Amino acid sequence: MPASMGLAASTKKERLATEQDRGEPRRVQLRHESRLTAVEYVKQKAWEGASLQQCPLHPEGGCGIARHGTYVRVEPPGMEIARWYCKPGHTTFSLLPDCLAAKLSSTLAAVETVVDAVERRESSIEALAEKLRPDIGVQGAVRWVRRRVVAITLAMVALKGLQPDVLSGVGATQGEVRAALKVDAVLAAARELAGTQVAHLPPYVGFGARHRGVKTAKRRAQHQAGADPP
Ligand SMILES: [Zn+2]
Repeated sequence: MPASMGLAASTKKERLATEQDRGEPRRVQLRHESRLTAVEYVKQKAWEGASLQQCPLHPEGGCGIARHGTYVRVEPPGMEIARWYCKPGHTTFSLLPDCLAAKLSSTLAAVETVVDAVERRESSIEALAEKLRPDIGVQGAVRWVRRRVVAITLAMVALKGLQPDVLSGVGATQGEVRAALKVDAVLAAARELAGTQVAHLPPYVGFGARHRGVKTAKRRAQHQAGADPP
């Protein structure tokens, strides 16, 4: 995404604030547990099979929660997300499949590929960024790469906190966590491992806010990402 990201984010916040003033429903993201890739999910229209057994706000039932259509994601093309609406709770629930990043127009697999390239020092971050995003200029492309590295570092740190038994002594890089979990797709596995805490895990893996520890993780990630290969 280009340098106007900050502006877009603040515009979005303003829009959300306005919607809340107008009394529009609160939006909550939940997991649609699915092993499908994004391409398979679109091809099978797997959102049609997504189901919400009970209302998270009213597990005792009786609130009349009902399907509320879908919303369309820009990326990948054709992707739709199943949605429910609880009227008494004035809340919509969208079921995000495990193949998709939260709060980012991308798949988790695509984010994982970018972060891998940085962690493996395949080239300098500038060269890598130019290769991945030739359309937005070097500075914008470097920020695009770093946002991903920072977000995933934060998610890995948070995951280690949630799963000390499994991940104590493991570094907070995607590669180290992947090796420790013995999986191929570590970000989707991380989302699963987070369990109900996925609501609090930082994006793009989790559905939580992105504030905590941002500065420290950013410094660490920039230090890592900035180093040229030996
Ligand atoms: Zn409800």
